[in-house]
Amino acid sequence: MSEAVTMEKIVSLCKRRGFIFQSSEIYGGLGSCWDYGPMGVQLKRNVKNAWWSTMVEERGDVVGLDCSIMMHPTVWQASGHIDSFSDPLVECKDCNQRWRADQLEKQECPACGGELTEARNFNLMFKTFMGAVEEDAAVVYLRPETAQGIFVNFQNVVSTSRKRLPLGIAQIGKSFRNEITPGNFTFRTREFEQMEMEFFVQPGTDEDWYEYWSHERFEWYKKLGIRAENLRMREHAKDELAHYAKACVDVEYLFPIGWSELEGIANRTDFDLKQHSAWSGKDLSYFDGTTNERYMPYVIEPSAGADRSTLAFLVDAYTEEEVEGASRVVLKLHPELAPVQVAILPLSKNERLVPLAKEVHDRVRKCFHTEYDDTQSIGRRYRRQDEIGTPLCVTVDFDSLEDGQVTIRDRDSLAQIRLPIDNLVDTLRAKLSGEGFGTDSLWAGARA
Ligand code: ATP
Repeated sequence: MSEAVTMEKIVSLCKRRGFIFQSSEIYGGLGSCWDYGPMGVQLKRNVKNAWWSTMVEERGDVVGLDCSIMMHPTVWQASGHIDSFSDPLVECKDCNQRWRADQLEKQECPACGGELTEARNFNLMFKTFMGAVEEDAAVVYLRPETAQGIFVNFQNVVSTSRKRLPLGIAQIGKSFRNEITPGNFTFRTREFEQMEMEFFVQPGTDEDWYEYWSHERFEWYKKLGIRAENLRMREHAKDELAHYAKACVDVEYLFPIGWSELEGIANRTDFDLKQHSAWSGKDLSYFDGTTNERYMPYVIEPSAGADRSTLAFLVDAYTEEEVEGASRVVLKLHPELAPVQVAILPLSKNERLVPLAKEVHDRVRKCFHTEYDDTQSIGRRYRRQDEIGTPLCVTVDFDSLEDGQVTIRDRDSLAQIRLPIDNLVDTLRAKLSGEGFGTDSLWAGARA
């Protein structure tokens, strides 16, 4: 990462190249709400897919789930969110701005220096009404975490999945928190996506599993190209722990705003299942056929933010460099995450070149995320592909018409190789998997 990477540069690139736009921009925007453009939606989807394959598809002990955002209101009483899911809020007596008391360095308003009110607990859950009447009986909440949907379905999943403990249940979905001080682009918003997994284990084995998942989750970011020196683990102090947790460690990333949480791995003990058993009157304990014991499982929870990790991948990939006397901005995204993996670029829009280039595109698009572009000069098109992080560009030129060969250009080393169209798909696959161009080995896994 170049030293100078700032949030402003990331925001500007995201807007310029169609990753992330301000929500409702034509109306002046809505505070801390963001929309993912064509590049951003694919990048975030690739992040979520990478998480899902690692956490669910490549394992035999984790299954998936997709729960509704609105749930029975008692869920939030049982989980403790109605009583405890709050931040300390203070208000400036002069300018009326609101702040999170635990994030202030001085006991005065950061905006105007005014005097602050006493702190009061501000619940972060969004409330709304279900049905056609606005009365207390119809109050529902937008979930502030996806985890509770998993706990209340624990028995449904165990009895239908033919799996035994240890068993994980994973879910990706939107969560909502009425944050007092959202900001720093997509780092903290009021609507965001989480990637959460609850791993149910026999009590007594929980500490080992906690260590295991802390390690796995740290490695996941490295595997997808985040530099090890920009990642660290931070164990929570006892007085920092959430009301349900016995231990918690954060994977932190060195964002332009400093070291900040990317993901938390918590030992939630049997708190949630016990609470839901008590409030629902349904016994959520588990009978372990191998030990002939009945117990309330303990839960290890890796909880990551899809938007926040997408931002981290963008920041870590952002590079400004000098190449042959010219400067370029390049996103050195891992090929698994890049929104476009292969761009097909005819040298020009010439009517003889275009049909062959389109034929090449048709072959390649079945196998990779691709883009076909024949507008503007080839130099400008390379610049665009560098800025959106496309690992490989394939150029079709006039010689291609004669010899049936095309050129692959590597984003990072700028090396080029020429090869027959018939070998193209296999070679692209090998290069995207990390095979070098005869220079240094490429990308990521590589970088770790
Ligand atoms: P913080 O202390 O920063 O408010 P948290 O510890 O409450 O965060 P968790 O409840 O552990 O966060 O949520 C798990 C993950 O969900 C976080 O690591 C983060 O990636 C993501 N997340 C939480 N809140 C937000 C938010 N407001 N905007 C974007 N992502 C969020």
